Order: sequence, then C-alpha cells, then structure tokens
Amino acid sequence: MSTPEQVLEKAHDAGVRLVRFLYCDNDGIIRGKTTHVDFLKPCIEAGIGLTVAMQSFIMLDALSPEGTFGPVGEVRLMPDLETFTPLPYAPRSARMLADLIQHDRTPWGACPRSFLKRMVERSGERGVQWQAAFENEFYLVRQAEEGFVPIDHSLCFSSIGMDEAEPIIQEIIEALGLQGVQVEKYFPELGPGQQEIPIHHAPALRAADNQIVFRETVRGVARAHGLWATFAPKPFADLAGNGCHLHLSAWDEAGERNLFFDGEDPNRLSRQGYHFIGGVLAHLPALVALTAPSVNSYRRLQPQTWASAFICYGPDNREAAVRIVSPYWGREMESVNIELKCSDPSNNPYIALGGMLAAGLDGIEKEIEPGEALMVDPARLSEEERESRGIRRLPTTLEEAIGELERDEVLCGAMGPVLAKEYLIVKRAVWEGFKDKDEAFELAQHFYKF
Ligand code: GLU
Ligand code: MG
Repeated sequence: MSTPEQVLEKAHDAGVRLVRFLYCDNDGIIRGKTTHVDFLKPCIEAGIGLTVAMQSFIMLDALSPEGTFGPVGEVRLMPDLETFTPLPYAPRSARMLADLIQHDRTPWGACPRSFLKRMVERSGERGVQWQAAFENEFYLVRQAEEGFVPIDHSLCFSSIGMDEAEPIIQEIIEALGLQGVQVEKYFPELGPGQQEIPIHHAPALRAADNQIVFRETVRGVARAHGLWATFAPKPFADLAGNGCHLHLSAWDEAGERNLFFDGEDPNRLSRQGYHFIGGVLAHLPALVALTAPSVNSYRRLQPQTWASAFICYGPDNREAAVRIVSPYWGREMESVNIELKCSDPSNNPYIALGGMLAAGLDGIEKEIEPGEALMVDPARLSEEERESRGIRRLPTTLEEAIGELERDEVLCGAMGPVLAKEYLIVKRAVWEGFKDKDEAFELAQHFYKF
C-alpha cells in the first residue's frame, strides 16, 4: 500500500507539476480535476470537490433534463494511491484514478468504480476472483481538409500497416509499460489506420483501471504526434467498428486455479463457465446497455461484421456475442477464458465489467444453462432456424437496450438504486439528444470524445 508521502516523493522525483484525479462518468467520458503538486497532500487526504451534477451529465456536455443531480451538492474525488503514475506523454503531469466519496466518507451510490468494487467483493464472498482484460481496437487518424482521415490504407494484419504505424505504436507500448500496463501483442486491424494492442489480464478492478489508462495513453501519444486516436464504436459508417472485447476468467481464492477450466470438456470450459455464459446470455439484452452504451454502439453491432449481433455463444465463434476462447498448448488451465464481443470502448469500464459480473454470477447461482454452442455464423441461419434454437437479435438501438436494462432487476439491483436510476436517466437523455439528428452529427459527436 502506498502512503501519501510515497506518492508525493514519486511526484517530486518525476518533476510533476500537476496531478490529475480522473474518473469515468455515467456516459463513458473520462473526466477529472487536477491539483498543483504543492497542494497534492491535502487533496490526497480530503479529495477534490466535484459537483454531484456530473453524474447527471451527458456526452453532449449538458445536464440530463430529468437528472436527479444539479447545482446543489458535492462529492469528493478521492484518489486511489496505487494508481499514481507520471504521464509519459505529458511529462509535467501525473494521474490517479479516483472514487466518488460522500462527505461522510462512504462511497457515493452513483460512483461507478465503487460499484465494481462491490461486485468484486460479492464474488470474493463466494470464493471467486476475476482476471479480466479489455481488448481495444482504435483508429489513428490525421486531420485533412475533408475532416479526420485514417493514417494509412493498411490491410488487416498487414506488415505495411506495421511499418506505417511503427513509431507511434512503439511509443504507445512504451508509455503503457511505464504505467504498469503490460502489452501482449500488436497488429493492424481490418480498417485502414485501425490498430489493436491486446494487453495482459489483471484483477477486475485493475483491469478496468487499465482501460482508462489505455484510452488516455493512446489518445495522449497520438496527440503528441500531431495525430488523433478515436475509440468511437463506429467512427466511419462504412469501415470496421472498434470493439473492446471483454475477456474474463474466474479464479479460486489462492489465484492458482482457473475455475472456468475443465480438461474433460471439449471446449475446456467448466460447468461454472457454462453457467456464467448462461447468465450473461440471459441478461444480454440489458447488459449491452452497459457494455455497448452509446448511440454509436448500435451502428457497430451489425450481423457479419465480427462485432456480434445475435445472442448466442460458441467456441472461437467471432460472430457470437460470447466466444469461448480456445486455450493455448501447455497453458490450457490458465488460458481458457470467455470473451464478450458486444462491448466497445465507449463504455464505462467499471460499469461494463461490474454488469458482466452481475449477469454471470446470476447464471452461476441459478445454474442457468446456455444451451447448445453455435458452430456457425448466426446470420447464415434462416430466421426460423434461429428461432428454433432460441437465438435472438441483440437490441438494435440504445433506446431498446435502455428499455431492457430498466426491466432487468438483477442488473439494476446490482448497480444499486442511485447508480441504476441515474444511468438510465443519462442514457435516455443521450438518446433524446441524438434521435432526431443525422448520421454526420452522430459520427462527429462520438469521434473526438472516446
Ligand atoms: N472490429 C470488430 C468489432 O467491432 C472485431 C474484429 C475482431 O477482432 O474479431 O468488434
Ligand atoms: Mg480485433
């Protein structure tokens, strides 16, 4: 555990002048306030004040008309000292991730990070801890006269793309490493200028923190190169979308045994793993309101785009909402995991992961069977075939997903009344803000903010 003194020392050693206290709001926007390093100690001890209104704010930078929170009332941004890192791409600044804490020192009901902590705690009571990783795709773009354009014409996994993006990718990887985020792989993705940098899994809270670090770092390094990065789910209407697939495995208390592994099963997945999937599929129409939560998200979730559009699962099936990831030779026990495809980087990672855990735990508790694994592209089945196998389409708009979430007592119950209510209010306000607007407005509004 770091002490305030140790954090101060690290800040001074790194020549830091400003320290950012960051959080992610209900609409997936990363926000925060900074303190001058001379005032860091009191801010560590008592936080930085934040108007409660910010959890009724939407990505159009306006208060939700129905918002519960407004001009009266304040919470404190209380930093997690373990998350302190100087920013390699902004050398006089450092960052900590913060919880939203009330004046009585208890977590605010509308704090997303505290929600995920509760889910981790609830799992711990059942002897389960999680390893998770958010697997991002993003575009690197430059500004041209006609607007933002991809930095290259690279093909999927093409070595030309690797050369084109080499300097900036190297710098992103270095910056992530310096902040304790371990990069596992890198490759140019399907879209021109689209990149993927999978990172190593981490305990649930850390994994969600890493997602904030990842979004911040990629954007920050791109800006330092005179470029932009966008994590919008579908930044270009006619090009591949940006997924943020959520990988998860369950571990025993000692962290030694992957509870999702069963060597006897053809997919190497345990009964608990299948029940977890059963829970995720049962709650998926509502869960996508948490994992794919922007208006732009539903432009991405289309059949035959490898983003998933149907509620089904299968081993290494990249058109299924849940994929059982095949394990690696010699590392079968540790590497088997499940991947949620209908997740994108416009989500609040604390809320998305917390929601997925709530859905999966419900499946484990009720022993919900996920049905038969799907070995084909669900879009290639006839409608009758899908119906007979019980394969439903995912919600096709944010509005539909919010309606499902509102009716889902398990997910809303897990979020708690304050967070669930405000999340729904915020998302409804966003839907209202976009529903009469055209495609160009939607793309422009999402491009720069994620
Ligand atoms: N770009 C696809 C998505 O939107 C994912 C492609 C893949 O990595 O399978 O999720
Ligand atoms: Mg990919």
